[in-house]
Order: sequence, then structure tokens, then C-alpha cells
Amino acid sequence: MKLKVMPLLLALTANAAPLIYAKDAAPKSTESQAKLPDIKGLEAILKRFKAVELKVDLSKFPESEKKALAKMIQASQVIETIYFRQIWSGNEAMKDSLAKDNSALGKARYAAFMLDKGPWSLQDDHKPTVPGAPHKPEAGTYYPEGSTKAEIEAWIASLPAAEQASAKGFFTVVRKDAAGKLKLVGYNEEYKPEIDTAAKLLKEAAALTTQPTLKDFLNKRADAFLSNKYYDSDVAWMKLDASIEPTIGPYETYEDEWFSAKAAFESFITIRDEAETAKLAKFSAELQGLEDNLPFDPKFRNPKIGALAPIRVVNSIYSAGEANRGIQTAAYNLPNDEKISAEMGTKRTMLKNVQELKFENVLTPITRIALAKKDQAKISFESFFTHILMHELMHGLGPSTVTVDGKTVTVRDRLQNNYSALEEAKADVSGLWALQHLIDKGTLSQEMEKTLYTTYLASSFRSVRFGLNEAHGKAVALQMNYLLDAKAFVVAKDGTFSVDESKIKGAIKDLTGELLTIQALGDKTKADAFAKKYMVMNPKIQAVLNKLTHIPTDIRPIFTTADELLKTYK
Ligand SMILES: [Zn+2]
Repeated sequence: MKLKVMPLLLALTANAAPLIYAKDAAPKSTESQAKLPDIKGLEAILKRFKAVELKVDLSKFPESEKKALAKMIQASQVIETIYFRQIWSGNEAMKDSLAKDNSALGKARYAAFMLDKGPWSLQDDHKPTVPGAPHKPEAGTYYPEGSTKAEIEAWIASLPAAEQASAKGFFTVVRKDAAGKLKLVGYNEEYKPEIDTAAKLLKEAAALTTQPTLKDFLNKRADAFLSNKYYDSDVAWMKLDASIEPTIGPYETYEDEWFSAKAAFESFITIRDEAETAKLAKFSAELQGLEDNLPFDPKFRNPKIGALAPIRVVNSIYSAGEANRGIQTAAYNLPNDEKISAEMGTKRTMLKNVQELKFENVLTPITRIALAKKDQAKISFESFFTHILMHELMHGLGPSTVTVDGKTVTVRDRLQNNYSALEEAKADVSGLWALQHLIDKGTLSQEMEKTLYTTYLASSFRSVRFGLNEAHGKAVALQMNYLLDAKAFVVAKDGTFSVDESKIKGAIKDLTGELLTIQALGDKTKADAFAKKYMVMNPKIQAVLNKLTHIPTDIRPIFTTADELLKTYK
């Protein structure tokens, strides 16, 4: 699973960005007849994504690792070719012909095509951007062209059980044989030339690196490419403990809108962030102490919290395929294979430098509009990112089960439809409460308090910017409305927001206690009342959002460090 923006500020994918396509008042035209954007329209699409350089300092890296990195980047480029093919059968040919068009319009079309990895604008309900683009195929090229969902469904149901599993598996496509009969083809066969090249490059990278767990992963992933059996390499990926963290292969199933079964190729080549890794270790040691102090009835506290799912903080140097398309991924949870997640859990990887670029290029401009002048300087990336880390950790604290009439049920089952939003709100506010607790204890520097709450306020605007249609947006609306009621957030006559420093700490603690208590009691009535009262768009918030339309939606990375590596180690 993938988060495009981290907890506090999720939600960018909805359709709130400026309209590029005029809405016809006339009878609704079909998508294929929709008017294509002209050069101005294409420029507007591109302008939503601010081009920024993605750089990582590799000066302390030994030659062996830099050479290995270059091989991994090359393998990623090969993987990307497969991804283009997975989206639509005409995708590669269209890309090649656009690349040859040197007119201004042709160049703009190519840029828009490369941004979304196909001739449709993701931010505009997949409307076409290039002449000749068909409707975006619902299930990519995973199933034979011209086939229907019902046909494939019936065929799968007719197969013996063992084959059914493979047919519904991540790593096969369905094709027709010469006689027109449906059959399964493994990725290793379907994409053989690219798969063989990528495997060879990963083997070369494995031979270069001196880090044992990295060597192991690269070798096993290369073997998985060739054998189409990914289990061992996923285990090796979970066990990775190296300065380089590559994630490369077929992973997410979003492009298969029929069955969410088939995995699209992607790659993140990243470098472990040592300072944040140390910070995480420090926080992990504090978790039981935080649980023991949670601001609600002590009888609900957990005397022995369980093991943590692994979290990695990394800096990205290159991404390809689905990983570099439209809104940039800020964090991901993998693998998706249920066998692995049942046995070992999943690993959460957070892309720190990507988040920093989003912070600078999207959040900071929002601040200048949303916040009172005196508060505008009180935001910092350090506070922002540390709060995101703590948010993740706090998901592991507090009640997850309730005992009712002697039976233990999950809080999720009790609270149902409002569970996710309340849990996200809990992680946000209890995360702030926890950071304040560690500041008061001296574990964290007093400095952080100066920017913690204002940064939180500013990032709240970014989260609600794209609506309340999913858990994170609802969670943030809940918090903002509660804190406005508590007068911890204050709105000036000119509409700008600020934090009342005399009230914020108390209000955060109160809200944390309220949410934890709802969870501990599994109190659905209270949860629903809370949702009804607070998960709504407030006109004062909406007034600010209305002023944010010119601010970029996201960033578009230019891979400066990766380009240098490729040039040096050709
Ligand atoms: Zn969360």
C-alpha cells in the first residue's frame, strides 16, 4: 500500500486542483470525444507539479556501493519499460512517436505523457492529453485485448483450484493461445527480454556491494525475476539492513481495476537516513513509557505493548514505473503478499527527502496564506517529520481490542465506519501529546516546542485541501474543528489562523483522552456523535482553501544524483 502524502497531509489525489478541462454545459460527450487540452492546458497540467531536484549526499559512500547503485538505477529503467506496457498496449509506441515531435505542442504533450506515464491526466479523471488516446483500459494489459471481466471471471472459476490461485495471483497475465483459448503466462515469460536484463543488472549490483543483506536481497530478487517466485526475495527484503534500500519489482495492484490482482512494476532506489534511524530507535525505547502515561483512565493502559512493525526512513535517489507517476509517493507499506505479512508483518518505508520537498514547495506556500503573520516563521520540517514518525508509532499504542460481555472484539469491529478516521485522528493528536511528553522529559529539545503546533496547524490545511472523502481528511477536519471550539486554534478577522499557545497543549491532551476513551469502551454512539459534530467542512477553513488554488499540487523530481551516478559509472 502506498501513501502519496504522509498521515497529516494525505489526500492529494482528489480533484481539487484547478480545472484544466472546461466542463461542457452541452450534452455530455464521451471521454474519447472530449476536447484535448491545447498547449496552455498542458502547461497548466504540468505547472501543478513543481519540478525539483532530488539529491542525496553520497560523498561518504565507498566506490563499491556507488557502482552497485548505478546498476540498480539501470535495472529500474528497464523495469519502467515493462510498466509502460502494462498500462496500455499502445503506450510505448505513442511515447516513442511523441519523443520525436519537436514542436512546442509535441514537447508539452510528451512532458504530460511522462508525468502520468500515459496519455491521460490522472488529476482530471483520466481525460486524454494526446490525440489517438483511447479510453484508459480498466485493467491495463493484464487480460487479453477485447476480453471482458465476466469472461475472465467465468474462465477462472472453471479452472482447477491450484490454477485458480495462480490466475488470481500477482505475477501472471491472461493471454489467448493460437486456438483462441485463454491461458496463463508468467511475468518471467511475458516480459522475458526486460526481465532477463533487469535480473542480470541486479546480479551485477549484488556482486559489487559488500553489504551481506543487500547482496542477499539483490541475488534473490534477480532469481525471483527469472523464476517468477517472489517469496524468498520478499523475506530477504524484510531483513534488509544496509545503507542502500532498494524496492524493485512488481508490487501494487491499482492498475488492475477488474480484480486488483495483477502487480505493476516499480522501483524505489533509496539510501537509509542514519540520523532518523537513530531517532526511531530512541523513540522505540520510549514507547512503553508513553503508553504508561497516556491521558485516559489508567485501567485501559497496556502494561506490555507488542513488537513494532519495522519502519525505515530513507532518502530517494531514483524511482521508476508506478513509483514515479503523478503525485509522488511519500511512504509505502510492503509487501502485499499476505503470506509474508502474516508471518513477518509489513515494512513501512518513509521517503524523507521527498516529504521535505513537498514541505518546501507545497506546505510552505500554504503557510503564507493560511497563517497569521506572526505564526508564519514558526514552522519547521524537523517538527513536521518528527510528528509523522510519532504518528506511525502511536498507531501501535492505545486500545486495539475491547472486552464486551466477556468477549474480546477489535475496536475496528466496534466502531465500524468511523474507526479509520478516529484512529488517524488519535495517531495525530496522541503523536503531538507524545512529543510534548518527551520535550518535557528532556528527551527531545525544547526548541521543537516553538514550531511543533504551528507546523501542525499549517499541515492540517494541506490535508483537508482535497476534501473529506477519506479517513485522513476526515481525521484532520475533526481535529481542526475540535481545536477551534477549544479556542486553541484562533481565526483572525482577515481569515488567517494561529495557535493559542496558552490553550493548545491542554486541548491536545483532552482530545487525545477523548479519542482513546471512545476506543477503550468501543463506544460507537459516542464515535458517531463525534464524527457528526466534527468531521465536517468548516466555512472558516473553506475560506482559506479557496485561496490556495494557485499553489502546486505536488512535486516532479529531477534525479540529479542518479544522473551523476549513471554518468560516472556507465
Ligand atoms: Zn496513520
